[in-house]
Amino acid sequence: EQSSVSCAGCGIMIQTEDAKRPGFAPPSALDRKVVICQRCYRIKHYNEVAPVNMGDDDFLRILDGIGSTQSLVVMVVDIFDFQGSWLKGLPRFVGKNPILLVGNKVDLLPRNINLNRVRNWMQHEAKERGLRPEDVVLISAQKGQHIDELLARIGELRKGRDVYIVGVTNVGKSTVINRILHDYGAAELEITTSPFPGTTLDKIEIPLEDGRFIFDTPGIINRDQIGHMIPPADLRKITPNSRINSKVYQLNDGQSLFLGGLARIDFVQGQRQPFIVYVDNDMYIHRTKLDKADEVMEKHHGSLLVPPTGEEAAKALPPFIKHTFKIRPTGTTDIVISGLGWVSLQGKHDASVVVHAPKGVSVGIRKGLI
Ligand code: GDP
Repeated sequence: EQSSVSCAGCGIMIQTEDAKRPGFAPPSALDRKVVICQRCYRIKHYNEVAPVNMGDDDFLRILDGIGSTQSLVVMVVDIFDFQGSWLKGLPRFVGKNPILLVGNKVDLLPRNINLNRVRNWMQHEAKERGLRPEDVVLISAQKGQHIDELLARIGELRKGRDVYIVGVTNVGKSTVINRILHDYGAAELEITTSPFPGTTLDKIEIPLEDGRFIFDTPGIINRDQIGHMIPPADLRKITPNSRINSKVYQLNDGQSLFLGGLARIDFVQGQRQPFIVYVDNDMYIHRTKLDKADEVMEKHHGSLLVPPTGEEAAKALPPFIKHTFKIRPTGTTDIVISGLGWVSLQGKHDASVVVHAPKGVSVGIRKGLI
């Protein structure tokens, strides 16, 4: 039931039916003089940010507003799913405002990784997509790593302006915001009406000492994220929750590796060499002969080759697309499968590799990170 009352915190119309939709408040809340929605209530009393479901249009309207502001745009991506976590159309939305690119989930990377290479790779990928960030900061929102550094960079780059935090769902944006709320100035948190008239969007505003704000924006769903192609239980299986350990496979050409049933790597031609796999530590990796691989897939997709778990989930996946790579002997090369991880080749010899992955999932190469 939609009431005629709006939330004193964010301005959204209060409804008492669906706790998952924006504007929800329990019916008893309507008896109060000042009504706030459950989300604002939680923010105010528990410093917690709840996810909201909302339409893409609402989201685009908010982003469109950023271009006409004077602000710093902080874009959060998941370093494990760069392509999947890319916010499409951002160059258009940000206007002339500077951008700070934040790579989240750095805690998952193997210890011996070269973080400068990660940053360079992110700069490069951003440029390919028409964006030139002022800087790249790597953080772990979950573990609270490098949050100081992030806030320091924000402080330097914003030059007295407001800050907008943007990102697609699942990149950890809420976790970042909660970190900032918990660690800094949470006590002064105030919820105010959205400055975007006509939108039914609640936003978090974190006040800054000069009267400016850090604004949260709602996350949009990017359908190209592999996570949206599989059931939630499977998503949990491919999402690493601790530091990734590499697994080494000595392959001859004519051999294939299955990463569960979500990707297949064919070593088509080249000298025997190690394929070093960086994916969730529990991911099932199956080695087979290339000329048997089609048959194995046909027979075992969804049963032995999981995730996807079950025939239905396997059928629901987009068709597999082939990506062909000629690896030259120019040092370590990573083949990155967005949302799953990557496979590293030492680049001592030429190698011809074909990767099969569901349509929409980006597969590309980069200079090795280790
Ligand atoms: P949002 O949709 O962008 O707001 O993303 P959430 O904040 O809800 O996070 C999405 C998922 O990523 C959750 O399962 C988080 O626990 C996880 N997550 C967020 N930050 C980190 C991080 O720094 N490291 C790791 N390993 N996981 C994270």
